[in-house]
Amino acid sequence: MAVDFSELAVEGVRSLRPYQPGKPIDELARELGLNESDIVKLASNENPMGPSPAALEAIRRETAELHRYPDGAGFVLKKTLSDKLNVRSEQITLGNGSSDILDFIVRVFVNDGDNVVVSQHAFAIYGLVARTVGADCIAVPAKDFGHDLEAMLGAINERTRIVFVTNPNNPTGTWNHRDELIAFLNKVPENVIVLLDEAYFEYVHEADYPNGIELLDQYPNLVVTRTFSKAYGLASLRVGYGVSSPELADLMNRVRPPFNVDSFALAAANAAMLDEEYVRESIALNDRGMNYLTSAFDNLGLSYIPSVGNFISFRVPDGVDAMEVYSGLLKQGVIVRPVANYEMPEYLRVSIGTESENEIFIRALQKVLA
Ligand SMILES: *Cc1c(COP(=O)(O)O)cnc(C)c1O
Repeated sequence: MAVDFSELAVEGVRSLRPYQPGKPIDELARELGLNESDIVKLASNENPMGPSPAALEAIRRETAELHRYPDGAGFVLKKTLSDKLNVRSEQITLGNGSSDILDFIVRVFVNDGDNVVVSQHAFAIYGLVARTVGADCIAVPAKDFGHDLEAMLGAINERTRIVFVTNPNNPTGTWNHRDELIAFLNKVPENVIVLLDEAYFEYVHEADYPNGIELLDQYPNLVVTRTFSKAYGLASLRVGYGVSSPELADLMNRVRPPFNVDSFALAAANAAMLDEEYVRESIALNDRGMNYLTSAFDNLGLSYIPSVGNFISFRVPDGVDAMEVYSGLLKQGVIVRPVANYEMPEYLRVSIGTESENEIFIRALQKVLA
């Protein structure tokens, strides 16, 4: 008799569903019989400017060494990060995307039967990695779509190993103030890790927005993650990092696969980190796009969740099916992101694009809703 391998899979994996990425451009181009250049993808919060020229040049230089293993310690990138962030190299863990760091922290601390605490509507990866190791994921009801840190504190029990805080959160774009975060960190038990995901840190201008890295000295249980996938425009290369105490970084580095970040990613991330002009322009483009889209939503009478990231979730009109709006946009070559799997079935998330991409999206949306 044939073996039923799904019966043999560990319990946490059996009930998992794969992470749903945004629809790829080439796939939609094939389906519609269009050129890839006719497709507008605003579905994965990527940087619409394209990569930094400095990053491309760094990759070109690196090609001659393609036959060599990358620097497994990431010495140069860690040195640049430590200078820019004012931390020590021993505090940094490099990841194949910052998602890698989420996986490391779970594998270091979470056993079968333990749990992790997240917010309702939070980024989906936390629950996925926790369930892989047989842990429960306790989702705490959100408050106005944002993290209710008080309630999350209340959900911590003796089996809780990690609390995930996404600031700002994806897909809601909501954020927690410094005072709230500090009050929370002061009350989280010392033996519970707080993973503060700051994937969109660079985009946030609000005065009360906390910089998690500045809090590390006071909170030895804190791990802050950031990424090169968003404002630094390197999503495809898969590179991100965690910053923590040297002790936590040492533990995470024990489970980190050797050479998890390749030499192109290391070189490009280093160049992008030094290309401050590129990041400034990316942020300015995002600010203008966010203003444009929110005004357009206002004009169309659509409500939305105010966002400080490079994306925004808007609500389709009452009686309209968000999946039909999504399909209607697809037919016009515009890819946005359904968020029903985030318990937001009446919403769609759109990433801020270039000026012309934003205009194409709004025109297509008007057409679908007409
Ligand atoms: C995009 C995103 C990340 C980054 O993922 P990478 O693995 O670094 O590409 C992390 N957290 C959140 C909330 C995100 O939206």
